[in-house]
Amino acid sequence: MIVLKIGGASGVNLDTICADAAGLISQGQALVLVHGGSAETNEISTLLGHPPRFVTNETGFTSRYTDRATLEIFAMVTAGKINTLLVERLQRAGVNAFGLTGLDGRLMLAQRKEAIRIVENGRKLVLRDDYTGKIEQVNGALLTRLIESGLTPVIAPLALSARGEALNVDADRAAAYVAGAVKAEKLVILTNVPGLMRNFPDESTLIPHLSKAGLEQAISFAEGRMKKKVLGASEALGLGVAQVIFADGRTAHPLLDALAGKGTVIS
Ligand code: ADP
Repeated sequence: MIVLKIGGASGVNLDTICADAAGLISQGQALVLVHGGSAETNEISTLLGHPPRFVTNETGFTSRYTDRATLEIFAMVTAGKINTLLVERLQRAGVNAFGLTGLDGRLMLAQRKEAIRIVENGRKLVLRDDYTGKIEQVNGALLTRLIESGLTPVIAPLALSARGEALNVDADRAAAYVAGAVKAEKLVILTNVPGLMRNFPDESTLIPHLSKAGLEQAISFAEGRMKKKVLGASEALGLGVAQVIFADGRTAHPLLDALAGKGTVIS
């Protein structure tokens, strides 16, 4: 079992990624896809006159402030557009892809962050009315059943709260929980860089291999959203996934290269 997370950063080549995935699936490889949608949500929310607001918490993690209007735009973009078009692309490549969000069949349950403590211009603030969640449970049995019936699940990063609210969840961390729930051997995270760099953006400082212990230190040199990927990798290993690979989604064979160990292999 492989879980593949496809990033939404510019440059990622969905054609070659889907071609690689289709080739592996036709050979009998079980695969679950998880995608993001951050970059496109920013664009479309700006076009809709509701530009994104990013906030940084006390420990330095950055996240999207998701008020109700933002949540609805996030759902429209991730579940409506990105998920559907990824399924379209996979179907065209001969894969019987099945798109769903974490709300469908209660696939992903999350705890809503009732209040987020942020630091803005050196001041501490508390934001409420945020529809962001932290995943607590993924229904691995549902995914296994879909795969056993010949379908390839494609998951949009939305989850369900205990009160039945839709929540925006981080796609990298969602992929980590999905990988744990389906007992994946590998979690492949494709983005628009060759892997984790010690000294970003100097590609000569690419880290080819990282141990679980090395991950702690990696949080410190990963910037911005890369921090979430490192956190996701650590969570996946904690959930029993043997290997997490950060690799380049822009190449001619992104998934095959990643599985061959190109990128940053964390184990
Ligand atoms: P995606 O949308 O694919 O999930 P993100 O934009 O969220 O991707 O995260 C990938 C980005 O993280 C890269 O494009 C790069 O700009 C940034 N980044 C920050 N620190 C590092 C680092 N140490 N190594 C590699 N990339 C990094």
